[in-house]
Order: sequence, then structure tokens, then C-alpha cells
Amino acid sequence: MNTYDYPTNAGDLAAALSTGAALVLPGALIAGSFESGKGAQQIVLNPATGGAIAEFNAAAAAQVERAVQAAQQALPAWKARNRLERARVLRAIADRIEEAHDTLAALQVANNGKPAGEAEVDVLDVINVFRYYGDLCAGMKNLQSDELDIGVSGYHAQMNYEAVGVAGLIVPWNFPMVTTAWKVAAALAAGCTIVLKPSELTPVAELALAGLIHEAGLPPGVLNLVFGAADTGRALVQHPGVAKVSFTGSTAVGAAVMRDCADRMARVSLELGGKSALIVCADANLQLAVDLAIGGAFCNAGQMCSATSRILVHDSVYTDFILRMKEAIANLKVGGPQHGGANMGPVISARQQDKVLSYIAQARADGLRPVAEGSLPDDASHGYYVAPHLYADVPRSHPLWNEEIFGPIACVRRFATNDEAVHVANDSEYGLVATVVTEDSAAAAAMSEALQTGLVWINTPQIIFPGTSWGGFKRSGIGRELGVAGVRAYQEMKQVLKNA
Ligand code: NAD
Repeated sequence: MNTYDYPTNAGDLAAALSTGAALVLPGALIAGSFESGKGAQQIVLNPATGGAIAEFNAAAAAQVERAVQAAQQALPAWKARNRLERARVLRAIADRIEEAHDTLAALQVANNGKPAGEAEVDVLDVINVFRYYGDLCAGMKNLQSDELDIGVSGYHAQMNYEAVGVAGLIVPWNFPMVTTAWKVAAALAAGCTIVLKPSELTPVAELALAGLIHEAGLPPGVLNLVFGAADTGRALVQHPGVAKVSFTGSTAVGAAVMRDCADRMARVSLELGGKSALIVCADANLQLAVDLAIGGAFCNAGQMCSATSRILVHDSVYTDFILRMKEAIANLKVGGPQHGGANMGPVISARQQDKVLSYIAQARADGLRPVAEGSLPDDASHGYYVAPHLYADVPRSHPLWNEEIFGPIACVRRFATNDEAVHVANDSEYGLVATVVTEDSAAAAAMSEALQTGLVWINTPQIIFPGTSWGGFKRSGIGRELGVAGVRAYQEMKQVLKNA
């Protein structure tokens, strides 16, 4: 039974938001009950207007403690469920989310500021991921154990895959619900119970998602939530009852999380930052290259770990590419839902806006001028808008070229050979993704092999299918999400060898 009187399901949250009054949200969901937080107060803003839409008190350390205990208590029963039972629940969750698709998308827009089309794609991804893991549980006979033919007579080996225990999941604000679904669905498929900490900036859609998951029949205590910022996250990561931490966020915080896990050898997966390259070869379909560059750099206002913000273009098509990019950037309409038809939203917060604008100021101070700059709505001061910027011939030593900005800023440089393009693309501390645009399949294959990234898109937009993989090389992270690797990340492998 809820000890909490405020809306916690998707429909009620949307209805309450539409009244224009700021909502009071819970700070935690523990063993199936929502409760107020006992920690610091947080105000939740709509980035498109800068107005407050909700407030909550963060979960205090004692509430994190109780959430972990609830997950520990729920663990034996959930872990013991066979894969078909897990499949049934995961599929029911997908169905429930599908029914609430429009409401969830609206909540995503209200809390994150992204255009409706982008929010709808997010919700579809969430549905697909729960459905994928439901189907995986149903069809994957070796999800929980496997017979192994070791080819030695007299011995019989069995490989068991056991839930690692309580999973502490921490996610950022740029794709609320999506980064959550990738972790929650895989951890549930593996048999883990969960304490999830969403970003303090985007609790609304995450709360609605958690409500739907419970309505779909997940037993109380299997998924617990603690809302809050770094303090709440740290309390979760450092809790000795958390066997596995899966973190998505910045590389700096990811490194701190890994250090916290090291002492007790907690299992850890990290999905971190990026500074990815898009390579436009001499034979590229140029209109496709421009479309992929615009989507790769400015979708979600550039706030994507996978943003292809370093664009490398072959000498022979460079001038034409820049001309087309100028036109495409001029056609980007920046704004929020109130501006009608905007295809690029605001950045998430005043802090993020300041950070992005400081890179633009630094570029100006260093004599760099954008070759293309988009425009802003007239009332842009109400909300956190940044115009899209494209800089050309930025030195490779400059922060604009090297650092993850997480805003609508892209840099373009020319290259003479594909080897040079790959070399420059790999010259980064990150290694999350890359995009290659070429009509030459042999060149594409050679470049894919040479690129040091967890994913290479060839002539395709940034589509991520749930059955594939997600994760980075180098400082972009450790481990993989999605696919079979995603579920194995929440399991321990145990070998049982016996005389046959
Ligand atoms: P962030 O690292 O500041 O915060 C991420 C999450 O960690 C938030 O929930 C935050 O409250 C929490 N947190 C902060 N300090 C913590 C601590 N010491 N211990 C535990 N938790 C803590 O990142 P952000 O600004 O929310 O998100 C943007 C970053 O996320 C970018 O660097 C982006 O590249 C990265 N990201 C990566 C992926 C990926 O899949 N590789 C996906 C999305 C975002």
C-alpha cells in the first residue's frame, strides 16, 4: 500500500502536470511503496521554459539502506523464477508501456524538453527493449544453465548462470527511461533485483515508468527507486549489499564509481562519455552524409554520448559538404513545444547551457569562428536554448575538437586518405561509436576493422537494435549492454564438474 498521496502513475502524473501546478514527487519506492524523501530538496524544471514542474526531497542514506534491504529480501524468490516466468513479466511490462506510449512521451517532453518525435522514439525503444528481453528469456535455453561437452570421457560439465545479486543502477538525464530500460530489463532477465537511481533532473518520466512496471505485476521489492543527486548515488554505489553497479554517465563520475566498487570488488559496468567521429569519404552520397551529420550532432540538442561531433570530410567533397551543412543548419528550428514544429530542443539545464556557451566563448577567444550558426526563438531567454554551431578546421589540440561538450556544437576537418581519417578518428581518449559514409563496401569493412569504437554505423543513422550491443572502447566505458552480453553482465558464471 502506498504511504504516499501524490500521483505516481503515468496518467495521473500527466493530468496533474497539465494543471500547471508544480507536483510534489516521492523520493523513493521501497518494497512496492512510494514515500517522501528525507534528503535535500530538488526542484525539477522544464528546460523548454525554465519553469518548475515538480519538486521532491532526495532519498536519504537511510532510505537507500532500506531500498537495498528490500531488494535483498526480494532476491531469492525472483532469482528462483525460471526463464519462462521472467519472460511473462517482461512481456507484460512491454505491453503496459505500449498502452501508455503517448502519456510517457508527453512526460518525457515536459521533463526533458526534447521534441515530441524524439520522445516518441525513446518510448518505442523502451517497449522494444522490454519485449526483446522477454523474448530472450522465453527462447534462450541456456539463460540459466548450459550443458558443456568438454570432450573428455568420465566428466560432465554444467555451466550455471546465476543472478549476481542486488543491482545498483545509476542513469543520466539525456535519455530518461531509455538508459533505465536497457539496465532494468536486462537485470530482471538475469534474475537480479534492483535499486535504481534516476537523474535528479528527470525523475518524472522515470517515476511513471516505474509505476507501469509495477502495474504489470513485478513483485514488490524487485525494483526499488531512490531519487536524488550525487549523494544518493554514492550511498548506493558504496552499499555493501549491492553486488553489481551499472552506471551510465560522465567519464569522471564513472571513474569515481569504479574506485568505490574496487574496495569490495563489486562488479561494475560503465557506459560513459564520447567524442565520436563521422567520416565522409570521397564517394559518399553527400545528402545522406549531411542528414547523418545533422542527426549525429544535433539530435537531442547534441546531448548524446554517441554524438558524432568530430566530422571528417574528404578534400574532394569538403566545400560541397560545408555548403549543404550551412543550409541544413539554417533549416533547424530550435524551440520547445510552445514554439510549434521545432526539431531541436533546449539543453537540459542552465548549468548545461553555461557549459556549452563557455566552449563557444573559448572558441571565439581563440579566434575560431563558426562556419554555420543556427538561430534561436525570440523568447529564448525563457528556457535553456543554444543555437547549433558548426566550426571548420579546428586544431586537433583544441578543446572544441577533443572534449565532450554535450551540446549542439560540431567541428569539421578535411582529410586526404581513408587511413588518415581513421587515424584522426582514433586519436581520442574516447571510443564509443563512429559513422562511415561511403559507397565502397570494401573500404567500409577495412575502416570498421581499424576504428577503435564499440559500434560502427555504415551509411545508417544512429539506430540501436536491442539484440545487438552497446558500449565503448577506452574511456567510453567497460562492458556491454543490450543483447545476450547485456544479460550476462548481471550474472555470475558457475561451473559444476562431476564424474559422469
Ligand atoms: P553524471 O556523470 O554527472 O551523472 C550521471 C548519474 O550519476 C546521475 O544520476 C548523477 O546523479 C549520478 N552521480 C553523480 N555523481 C555521482 C557519484 N559520485 N556516485 C554515484 N552517482 C553519481 O552525467 P550526466 O551529466 O547526468 O550525463 C551526461 C553524461 O552521461 C555524458 O558524459 C554522457 O556521455 C554520458 N552518457 C553515456 C551514455 C552511454 O551509454 N555511454 C549514455 C548517456 C549518457
